[in-house]
Amino acid sequence: MNSISINFQKQIPVLGAYDVIVCGGGPAGLGAAIASARHGAETLVVENSNCLGGSWTNRLVTEYAIRAGMNGGIFKELRNEIEKLGGIHIDPYWHVPIFDPEIAKYVAQRMVEDSGAAMLFHTFIESAFCEGNTVKGIIVTGKGGMGLLRAKVVIDATGDGDVAASANVPFEKGRKKDGRMQGITLRSRIGGVNNLPDTNWKKINEILEQERKKGIVNIPSYVTKWLDAGAEGVHGERTFNLDMVTEIDATDRFQLTKAEMEGRKRLWELLLFARRHIPGWEKCYLIQTGSYIGVRETRRIIGEYVLTKADVLAGRKFADGISRSSHPIDTHDPENAEESAVDLEKYVRTHSCPKGDWYEIPYRCLVPKGVEGLLVAGRCISSDRESNGSLRIAGTCMNLGQAAGTAAAMAVKKKILPREVDGSKLRGILKEKHAVEI
Ligand SMILES: Cc1cc2nc3c(=O)[nH]c(=O)nc-3n(C[C@H](O)[C@H](O)[C@H](O)COP(=O)(O)OP(=O)(O)OC[C@H]3O[C@@H](n4cnc5c(N)ncnc54)[C@H](O)[C@@H]3O)c2cc1C
Repeated sequence: MNSISINFQKQIPVLGAYDVIVCGGGPAGLGAAIASARHGAETLVVENSNCLGGSWTNRLVTEYAIRAGMNGGIFKELRNEIEKLGGIHIDPYWHVPIFDPEIAKYVAQRMVEDSGAAMLFHTFIESAFCEGNTVKGIIVTGKGGMGLLRAKVVIDATGDGDVAASANVPFEKGRKKDGRMQGITLRSRIGGVNNLPDTNWKKINEILEQERKKGIVNIPSYVTKWLDAGAEGVHGERTFNLDMVTEIDATDRFQLTKAEMEGRKRLWELLLFARRHIPGWEKCYLIQTGSYIGVRETRRIIGEYVLTKADVLAGRKFADGISRSSHPIDTHDPENAEESAVDLEKYVRTHSCPKGDWYEIPYRCLVPKGVEGLLVAGRCISSDRESNGSLRIAGTCMNLGQAAGTAAAMAVKKKILPREVDGSKLRGILKEKHAVEI
């Protein structure tokens, strides 16, 4: 890309000073903000959108992963609170819990408020504010222009590692062989659907394939491969998880724009196709799309330990293990789509740790290499691409956030660097005092 150099000096206001600033209010950011505030640190969570929940709410990823199933801690509290308001429904076919995104937004906000953490919405984090190799805050922008927020510890829970990358933390992105990242998905909630049990999905897929070949629908075959009923939402609506767009780097605004446009076009083509050809879908209508297209993969920062595929498959445990999971390696690559469409059970078996076992994620994956005052939580933590395909699951991300928030508050209290926090002590606190299942 062409670039020019502009020398400008600008007087910007200092908008506030906190012990801990959490960047991004998704599952990882929620866990981090609540844990940090509960540990007595003055905490602020900064979020670009207008609510909490991140992909869970704004991107309509309303499914809790089935096989992670071992989270406890803040994740369990949040889930229970959503359930109390009637916001969880078990899909009868996939047996996954689906939640109501509006109830989740409200519950998340209430839990952060109750923890004592402050919230700042409509605020885009431009970069880390560094002195030497130490992060001392963040530069933000939005209504009112640019500003500085100071912090003793900053937690990058942006999913994309925006803050860490701007602080020059090394990172990797995409497949080794071609840099390609996972398909991304504009999720939706579709109402007005009847007669599901009688649907012959094989036949529907064949009709779709014929229409695709004739150019009646312009949807690539990888989108249609998994077309089935989706999952059943809390109010009887259907939710879909088709990989709408591939070959996108979601850290690039131009590519993201293209993906949003493509995703919407494809969704409408599918909706109109469903009205034409699927019995019981004649009057289906679009209730809602995600406010943003759903992104599965971008930057993975390099930290003091890089979690690997081998760790996941072997069910490796660590003295400083602060989260655990058994979710399969799920990278939505074209090759995997073929393989898992043929035999999902076999795919899961060969891409997971042994049945009944789990792997752990060490605290060192949250500690970036070479930069102080910063922790990373959520899907951008230090991991190879395959292990990331497993740990990116929302419940695990929230546990990682809870660990980062607890560690940040410990560092502030003890006046030490986040990297000096004893990972095995942190593990003990999370396990014994916070009921995190490790
Ligand atoms: C289509 C799809 C389907 C999925 N299916 C499942 C599933 O079935 N089960 C499951 O458990 N997981 C699923 N996942 C994975 C899971 O939703 C995500 O990996 C998880 O939400 C990541 O959490 P996070 O907190 O790290 O990031 P995110 O959820 O992405 O949250 C990051 C937050 O940071 C904010 N932010 C980002 N950059 C900035 C910035 N510069 N300034 C200010 N704010 C910023 C964003 O607005 C967002 O709120 C799915 C993901 C996708 C996309």
